Amino acid sequence: MEQDNEDLTLARIITETSGLGAGQLLEYMLERYGDGIALASSFGAEDQVLTDMLCGISDSPRIFTLDTGRLPEQTYDVMENTRKRYGVEIQIVFPEREKVEEMVNTWGPNLFYGSIEARKRCCGIRKIEPLKRVLRDLQAWICGLRAEQALTRTGLGRVEYDEQFGLLKVSPLADWTTKQVWDYIKERDVPYNALHDQGYPSIGCAPCTRAVGPGQDIRAGRWWWEEPEHKECGLHLKDADSANKEEVQNDGSA
Ligand code: SF4
Repeated sequence: MEQDNEDLTLARIITETSGLGAGQLLEYMLERYGDGIALASSFGAEDQVLTDMLCGISDSPRIFTLDTGRLPEQTYDVMENTRKRYGVEIQIVFPEREKVEEMVNTWGPNLFYGSIEARKRCCGIRKIEPLKRVLRDLQAWICGLRAEQALTRTGLGRVEYDEQFGLLKVSPLADWTTKQVWDYIKERDVPYNALHDQGYPSIGCAPCTRAVGPGQDIRAGRWWWEEPEHKECGLHLKDADSANKEEVQNDGSA
C-alpha cells in the first residue's frame, strides 16, 4: 500500500514537472517538500550549478556534504568559497569515528586498492552510513547526477524512487550535457573546484581520484583500477537488489 502511494506520488510529480527546466523542477520540489528535501553536494561542477539554482530560489536551502576525511584540499577550498559566496549553511557530515578507526587499524589506511570489497567497505563506512543518517529525516534528496557521466547512470530519470534509501531522488541535470554545465558556471561565475582545471572532470576522495587524459571517459579517473561497471560508491545504485548486496559488503561480512 505504501509503495502504491509512492508510485502515485512519483507518477504525479513526473507528469506535473515534464517540460520544466532544471531550476523550475527544483522550485517545484522545494515548494512541495520544504525542509524535507536537501541537496547532497560533493562540490563537483554539477552540484555547484544546483547550489546556485537553489540559492536563487530559497534563502536557506538544505545542503549537506559527506566529509569522508580523505577529500582533496581543493574541495575544502570550494566548500569555503561556496559558503562565502552564497551565505548558505552547509551541513558537513562525518563518518563514525569508531568505525573508521577499526577499519584503518584492521585493513590499513589505503585498503581500497586491495579489492573491490575493501573499496566498498571504505565507501560504506565513510560515505554510505553517514548518508543514511541524513536521509532518514528527508522525503527527497537532490543529486547532481547526469546520464552521460557513466555506464552505470544510463537511463537515469530526473525524478525517481530511490529503492536503496527509501525516498525520492531528484536529478535535475539528468539530461544536461557537460557543455551546458560549464556554460552555466561561466555565465554565472559560479565557484568551482580548481581540480576541474587540472584534468579532473569528476572529483571524489583524493586517493581514489586522478586526472583523465584527452578523450577519456568522464569518470575514468575515479577508482581507475576497477572495471567501469563497478564504478559507483554505493550512493547511487540502480536497484534494491544491488543495494542489499552492497549492504552485505559494507558490513564487511561478505
Ligand atoms: S572514495 Fe576511496 S577513500 Fe573515499 S570512501 Fe570510497 S574507497 Fe574510501
